[in-house]
Amino acid sequence: MAVAGNKSLKGIVYRLTPVKEKDAMVSCFGEEGLFSFYAYGVMNPSASNYGACQVSSESEFFLVESTQGAYRLKEAKLLDSYHPEDDLSAMLGLSFLIELVSRFLAEEDAAPLFPYFKQSLIALKEGKGAKTVCTIFLSQLMSVSGYGLNLDECVLCGKKSDIVSVSNIQGGYLCRSCAEEEGEAKMDVATLKAYRIIAKTPSDKIGSFELELKTINPILSNLSHLLEESTGAKIKSLQTLLSY
Ligand SMILES: [Zn+2]
Repeated sequence: MAVAGNKSLKGIVYRLTPVKEKDAMVSCFGEEGLFSFYAYGVMNPSASNYGACQVSSESEFFLVESTQGAYRLKEAKLLDSYHPEDDLSAMLGLSFLIELVSRFLAEEDAAPLFPYFKQSLIALKEGKGAKTVCTIFLSQLMSVSGYGLNLDECVLCGKKSDIVSVSNIQGGYLCRSCAEEEGEAKMDVATLKAYRIIAKTPSDKIGSFELELKTINPILSNLSHLLEESTGAKIKSLQTLLSY
């Protein structure tokens, strides 16, 4: 910070909320977490900061603190854009990720998730399997939010072998005898493994593999419903992503 009350922050724009004619509140996700600021005239396509403030633009923002302690934009420098061009599945994936960040991610949980967000946008732009990318991000978001599944052992007895099911109610893997006791349906081995692969994927491996649709669809659907049940809110962009 060169001048008191001024600062520069880097981040990816995930939401623009229009205010008045051409102004907007710009919401961003950066290494330090979520932040937002007021930008005058930024909805005008001929404004100098227009490109840097578009959704999925990664930019450096030079901000001035107002007397109320809020920030307004002085100048923005576009660093990169992750907007997928003419790729419907990538667009649906982007909508899903943006909805998760804007409606389901608490500010205090956000910072560790930023590398996953950025790598997911890069993978979508490169045309990598959107559902696999989205499911990995969803799984990470649930984990930092405290809704993650335990996929290291049977959640009821601690057994590490003979795992046959994933239970939303119990919160993770179940072994054969516990699944039978709880009346939980058995799953195929590929699905059981995929749950764990997804949960353990580091951010720099997003986009390096794609799971088959018959495997990824039920996991995306199930984790989404678990997040909806845990938060009481609906993921509006889920059905379109699933049906594609
Ligand atoms: Zn067990």
